[in-house]
Amino acid sequence: MTKILFMGNVEGNYIKEFDAVVTKNKKDYVCLDQTAFYPLGGGQPSDTGVLKWDGKESIVKEVIKKGDSVKHIIEGEKPPVGTKVHAVLDWEPRYGHMKMHTAQHIISSIIFDNYGARTVGNQIHADYSRVDFHPVNFNDKDLELIESKFNELVTKNLPVKIYEEDRENIEKRIDQQRAHLDLLPSFVKRLRIIEIEGFDVCPCAGTHVRNTSEIPKIDKIKREAKGKDKTRIIYTLSN
Ligand SMILES: [Zn+2]
Repeated sequence: MTKILFMGNVEGNYIKEFDAVVTKNKKDYVCLDQTAFYPLGGGQPSDTGVLKWDGKESIVKEVIKKGDSVKHIIEGEKPPVGTKVHAVLDWEPRYGHMKMHTAQHIISSIIFDNYGARTVGNQIHADYSRVDFHPVNFNDKDLELIESKFNELVTKNLPVKIYEEDRENIEKRIDQQRAHLDLLPSFVKRLRIIEIEGFDVCPCAGTHVRNTSEIPKIDKIKREAKGKDKTRIIYTLSN
């Protein structure tokens, strides 16, 4: 079991380097007792970085979660079990994912509130992202509305909070469809919540920024029809 350092609160999302002990050393990966690397999943790419120990350094080229353990795929020498390592994340792409992922929550929320359409797929990248919505067909005027509402929201300096809450509680206080609670398997009883204060509450396992002021305005936004009543929104953020 690997302790995930970014899960409990939003400050954990800003851990750029950390110490850990190697608990497993297999063919092409190692496991650590704790990690701040984000494992591939939920439409967010894996983090990358390096592990340092005893004057040596190896590349963490991908991170994958399997059950309770997080596999750090290593390029180069792998530290043996019991080794204390110092891990450093490639911060620029990771911080890009944090901004993009929080931006995705904002776009999904604006579109649900204004068009009643739900997010049915998403893929975050550091430089651009896409989100699919259903049932909806946007025109250019709609894109202008989404962009202006987004740009207004990110200037409001809204705090972003991360915490755990019982599903039973959260179901009583927020719209189940808006937060996709109706799509979660019934055995999931406790949720990790991402709350953009006064605007959006949504369960999510990804990494996010601590305040909307860290998110740049939309640079480009476009749409693509993806079949009946399904539209893809593709966006980039200004630097
Ligand atoms: Zn998220």
